[in-house]
Amino acid sequence: AVEVTGLRKSYGPQAVLAGVDLTVRAGEIVAMLGPSGSGKSTLLRCINRLEGWDEGAIRVGGRFLGTDEAGRALSPRDVAQMRAGVGVGMVFQQFNLFGHLTARENIAGPLRWVQGLSRLNADRRAQELLERVGLAHRADALPRHLSGGQQQRVAIARAVAPGPSVLLLDEPTSALDPELVNEVLEVIQRLAVEEGLAMVISTHQLRFAGEVADRVVFLSGGRIVEEGPADQVLNTPRHPLTARFLSKMS
Ligand code: ATP
Ligand code: MG
Repeated sequence: AVEVTGLRKSYGPQAVLAGVDLTVRAGEIVAMLGPSGSGKSTLLRCINRLEGWDEGAIRVGGRFLGTDEAGRALSPRDVAQMRAGVGVGMVFQQFNLFGHLTARENIAGPLRWVQGLSRLNADRRAQELLERVGLAHRADALPRHLSGGQQQRVAIARAVAPGPSVLLLDEPTSALDPELVNEVLEVIQRLAVEEGLAMVISTHQLRFAGEVADRVVFLSGGRIVEEGPADQVLNTPRHPLTARFLSKMS
């Protein structure tokens, strides 16, 4: 599970996160909607400790992230260790695969370099993940020989391979042709259940949000102004800002 409480962050005078509270349980998929600039990517980057914040706390698996137990900031080295230990994985819109490495090596390489697995164990784990995302037969392909949907499935497999408890996905289907969205959606849902992952997914695609998510949160101006079951928020929004956003999108 991941627990965000009272998170605030400003760039100069501009508050980008203005007090965010969000809890996501193991196995739960939360979709995050909101206008451009509402703070979705910033929130995900804070949870993954790619960015620092000004106030508030983030706990992953019950452990505080980015500070020691007394609330003191950790060094970048300690943060890297902690991030690996508590297990937060991230998937980006543009896949960010290593272009010169095969699908298998994209997964196995980091398992060796970061997690310290042997070549044999890393290759086994990579092959197992590729099977689970339906790409065992493409293990030796380079990213440029894979479709966008296949590349994103490799990126998801790579993020899941070290066994994180939280997976963050920042617009994972925005760069895909519409007919490739479903294969990625199915992989996300399957892994959330099988791995018991807490997932937070930012998206601009309402249909995707409705199909993938257990819960939807709507962010505006760095605040969660509405949250609830996906059906309720998408079909009968209670906050006028949510209603206006949804009517513009559809
Ligand atoms: P989008 O839907 O376009 O991806 P978003 O909801 O992900 O938007 P963020 O990328 O989190 O929004 O940005 C939130 C706000 O923070 C924006 O106003 C943005 O300009 C600002 N911002 C983000 N990164 C920085 C930075 N490094 N320095 C200054 N301002 C920043
Ligand atoms: Mg963004």
